[in-house]
Amino acid sequence: MASQPPVQYNLMSPSIPNATGTSQPPLLQRPITSNGIGQPSAGSRFPVPATSNSVPVSATTNSQWARPPVSSQFAPSTMSQPSFTAAGHQQCNPAIFGQDSPRPVLETQSSGRPPSSSSGPPLNNYQSGQPIINGNLGPPLANGVRTPTAYSGVNYATPATSSMGYSSPGVPPQYASQNFMPPQLHYGSGPPMGRPAGPPVPQQQYSTGYPSYSSASGQLPPISGIHTQQLSYPAAPVLPNAPVNQFQNFNSSIDKMASQMNTMSVTQTGFDKIWGHENVDLLQVRNILPAQGVETPRIRLRQEHLNNVHCSMDIFRCTLTKIPETNSILQKSRLPLGVLIHPFKDLTQLPVIQCQTIVRCRSCRTYINPFVYFVDQRRWKCNLCFRVNDLPDEFQYDPMSNSYGDPTRRPEIKNATIEFIAPAEYMLRPPQPPVYLYLLDVSHVAAETGYLKLFCDVLLEELEKIPGDSRTQIGFITYASSVQFYNLAENLNQPHQLVVSDIEDIFLPCPNDLLVNLNESKRLVIELLEQLPLRFNNTADCNSALGAALQAAYKMVSPTGGRITVFQASLPNIGPGALKPREDPNQRAAKDVPNLNAATDFFKKFALDCSGQQVAVDLFLLGGQYMDIASLSCASKFSGGCMYHFPSFHYVHNLPQVERLEHSLRRYLTRKIGFESVMRIRCTHGLSIHTFHGNFFVRSTDLLSLPNINPDAGFGLQVSIDENLSEVQNICFQAALLYTSSKGERRIRVHTMCLPIASTVADVIQSADQQCIVGLLAKMAVDRSLHSSISDARDAIVNVCVDVLSAYKATMSSAPSGLYAPSNLRLLPLYLAALLKSVAFRTGQSTRLDDRVFAMNQLKVLPLSQLILSVYPDMYAIHNLHDQGAISQGEMVIPQPPRIHLSAEMVDSTGAYLLDTGDVIYLYVGRNIHPAFIENVLGSSSFQSLPEQMFELPELETAESERLRNFLVHLQNQRPYPAVLQLIREDSQIRHLFSSHLVDGRTESSLSYYEFLQHLKNQIK
Ligand SMILES: [Zn+2]
Repeated sequence: MASQPPVQYNLMSPSIPNATGTSQPPLLQRPITSNGIGQPSAGSRFPVPATSNSVPVSATTNSQWARPPVSSQFAPSTMSQPSFTAAGHQQCNPAIFGQDSPRPVLETQSSGRPPSSSSGPPLNNYQSGQPIINGNLGPPLANGVRTPTAYSGVNYATPATSSMGYSSPGVPPQYASQNFMPPQLHYGSGPPMGRPAGPPVPQQQYSTGYPSYSSASGQLPPISGIHTQQLSYPAAPVLPNAPVNQFQNFNSSIDKMASQMNTMSVTQTGFDKIWGHENVDLLQVRNILPAQGVETPRIRLRQEHLNNVHCSMDIFRCTLTKIPETNSILQKSRLPLGVLIHPFKDLTQLPVIQCQTIVRCRSCRTYINPFVYFVDQRRWKCNLCFRVNDLPDEFQYDPMSNSYGDPTRRPEIKNATIEFIAPAEYMLRPPQPPVYLYLLDVSHVAAETGYLKLFCDVLLEELEKIPGDSRTQIGFITYASSVQFYNLAENLNQPHQLVVSDIEDIFLPCPNDLLVNLNESKRLVIELLEQLPLRFNNTADCNSALGAALQAAYKMVSPTGGRITVFQASLPNIGPGALKPREDPNQRAAKDVPNLNAATDFFKKFALDCSGQQVAVDLFLLGGQYMDIASLSCASKFSGGCMYHFPSFHYVHNLPQVERLEHSLRRYLTRKIGFESVMRIRCTHGLSIHTFHGNFFVRSTDLLSLPNINPDAGFGLQVSIDENLSEVQNICFQAALLYTSSKGERRIRVHTMCLPIASTVADVIQSADQQCIVGLLAKMAVDRSLHSSISDARDAIVNVCVDVLSAYKATMSSAPSGLYAPSNLRLLPLYLAALLKSVAFRTGQSTRLDDRVFAMNQLKVLPLSQLILSVYPDMYAIHNLHDQGAISQGEMVIPQPPRIHLSAEMVDSTGAYLLDTGDVIYLYVGRNIHPAFIENVLGSSSFQSLPEQMFELPELETAESERLRNFLVHLQNQRPYPAVLQLIREDSQIRHLFSSHLVDGRTESSLSYYEFLQHLKNQIK
């Protein structure tokens, strides 16, 4: 908390009689939810009986696994319903990459309205005479070239689909006959981008940027590895004022493009420019990446004064900054509607208030917020359900000026993010103490990695900084063939080890002193941490009874709630929950990947038991061999825990992983933590939330159970539009996170986001937030992979691109040739092409199953900024940093090198580059780098003498060194904990760690970014 100096308003002082008596602060967990915050007496709080691991998961719980029934009332299930449709079996949609599979489409909305030229009013004035978006109306081209199929999927979200006859067997598909197309593209073989017969594509409209590139003419970029230059793009003529390696400001390139566009009227162009609605021909812009980073879109409400109080876009973000007023408009835009939230993010400023009455809507329980409407000084109208509520007298008091009067001066009305210290009504039991239990794999494989020493050393160093108070409890369990407990009672001379070998029916060897008060037993804890690494140094025990150890841990922690932290380095192979190897190493490059889902429901059931008792399970996975992360991860997923993966960790032989573990562990041990928490997300009447993403258990329709909440956890949710919103000006989302702080305070953090309404498709598309869309699509694609297949998910990702750009094209006043995107979506194809090459979704390239499953899990939980970095890292050329354009922070001058494309073309052997992937920043040094750089920045005499392993920069007293170090500090300050810096020489064996991120280029099994654009262009009609 030291990092969060709260602005604390103590509103307890003015004692005002609550004349209205309206606001009896209700529980956050409405009706039922005796949610495990109480003692483990209430067996009904969960589908799974909380006290036993052996009871089968109830039907309710099972349904969380199963696909939701087709016509279900968008019953929110725990994990995601399939978010892309199941690619309607009735439809024979065109294959994307030469597969004869149905065409998966993105289906996020509640109504699968079939397109029709007569099915709605014209979209806007510019559209008359235009084909309707998504329109299956254009004449089918020769050769059966597909037309975009907009509404083809089965929708699992709402009953609306079944009423459209799409999901009932026997109802003929309406557009099936149009939806065949010949295979066009094939990853991995043959020339990509073959264009089917059809009208000739107009060539060479513009003289700048790329030459018009005709796939039909056979001028394909050469196929080979990604490392040679000139592969990513066909050779392009260099403009006098836009040299290849010089990155012009994006806006200037837009201006240039705009000036050359002869397809739009001058008036329209000027109009669009005023409103920031420029468009971009993606095929013509060489450097699409904004040099100074992607701007975060702004929400603009008509009520000007409200635009100063928006919730931070780092916390709460919607895929659209304007909400379509009808579902039909949303469908036509082809954009996904959803929200990403990072609810417990570390904040430098957080208003905290303590008051007698937390003002909430009497009808829907929304917390009063800046976007409510004051009918008069005594009444406010809820912005979610529109009920008019009375204000308690207390609310008339302004704590800042100590005066009575205008309620809009209150902190609740001035801040879209605020934290309340909750009164007793918000507690079902006294706030729990912080409880930390560590489970340590001490099998032979685990001991070999040497992780135990690192863990014990770091914990010893951070012991004083673990969040907590005088009540903090701590305990340790080790396990191999048996389970070992440690009695740490403060009156003992030294820790006592107690071994239980009956792992099939685990029990606690003594009732007390396995979890001890950290302050009282600190001496013994320290002694144990010093002894443990030595104790298991030479073990030959090859078994790992993780399941039994978890069951024991549950018995220890469940009476209070708390956190179980597991360090696992091998496949758990004996006792309850034992797993078997499932990966076929010969199939790592296969097109479809089996075994992405859990092999057993043991870990899920265990997690649900934990969730019911306010216990979360966090996993540190260190295996060099397959350890079935797909199964193990369930322990974290459903208990609100988190996961880390350090593949092939070894204390001596894998120093980069040692660095990563150390950085992550320090952050993990000392970051803020909230216990026994729940989060409820509400939205304005007319919208509904239908799918959640992240690690949690859904307890009721909109209540997420999060036994622990940490500042690095992100969540996503999908939204549908159920009713016409044209009567309202704005809509709101509100997230309320109720938790117990490590100091034992019950607190409620409330975030409110307000968005305006849009009434045209064009307006909706131009309001889209490309990064947020990628964040949501990645989560939906993970679900699709788990419920269907990776190739299905990949196709759906491509189809989103095609559909969105088609929808945009339909809004343009004329239909120029080229591949146009609105300026705000210009990076969507770049990001999605990169997503297809990410560890989670790539095919045709050897990928270990555990790496893939972990990457998928990360896409579900990473906060947006880190998710984007993991998909499309930031790369900078740093061999020639200068102070031009630098920014100053205090004494520090920070150079601002432009971001460059992730293309081998951009990487020169005479250069040095930083590649920021989120938790690792690679420093790549070309073999022909100028010796002065090596000497002045890296402190070596020559390239050859650079060390193979280097994790920090020497502090040299040269201007070059200072510039680079300042820039690195600047990058590090933008994340919750410092990334690992890793030097990679061009001739290094680990060079692939760098080059595998150059995703704009072509590989044997994937298209280059430019080829991807060509493919999109061919698909868009
Ligand atoms: Zn309300």
